Amino acid sequence: MPERARPAPDEAWPAPGRPWYAWRVRFDTVPTPPAVRDRPRDPRGYPVPAVTPWEDGEPRFALTDHARSADCARMRLCAVCGTPMPPGSVWRVVGAAESAAIADALAAGRPYRNLAPTTEGPGHRACMLYASMVCPYLARPNARRGTAAPQPDGAAGRAVRGAARGATGAVAAFGAYEYAVTATQVLFRFLDVVEFLPHDTSDVHLDELRAELAGRGQRR
Ligand SMILES: [Zn+2]
Repeated sequence: MPERARPAPDEAWPAPGRPWYAWRVRFDTVPTPPAVRDRPRDPRGYPVPAVTPWEDGEPRFALTDHARSADCARMRLCAVCGTPMPPGSVWRVVGAAESAAIADALAAGRPYRNLAPTTEGPGHRACMLYASMVCPYLARPNARRGTAAPQPDGAAGRAVRGAARGATGAVAAFGAYEYAVTATQVLFRFLDVVEFLPHDTSDVHLDELRAELAGRGQRR
């Protein structure tokens, strides 16, 4: 296997298509949601997401376990902590291209859905805020960017574009998701953006996560 459980901290990140949960930066400066705290740990102390496969007692962070991901999809379990998600919105960490596409859709007043299905399943708000900061790809300001679509006019459009400018990704909530379990993959599609929190630095969601864990964020 090309993946390693203990990569060098300065190793180039990431191979395109690596999921957010292939995390590998310091995690101990970010408050940990209780359900994530209960996850098994790798030898460095990193919590191992619910969808991560194990081989020979080692988590393979760069991979998605088919059976675990299918269980999460069917039983509406969080991809990070593996506990049930309540009815209503689900959250994801999205990369730069999808963040830009969502910002454009919001600015234009269009509904958004990811046309290309993703293998990355949804989770709790706190879990995805946590993942967005622990994953270094999402934290790096020079990560690859999406191509910006033409900007609409209007104050609302400018505000959304301004918030998203320079974003390397976002934590986004969706009103619904669809999934398909194929022989080799579990694919997700997300509809109806109900929260959009772009990020351009590693700690941008720290206060939001603290507030969420303090109980303010029980929105849905
Ligand atoms: Zn969770």
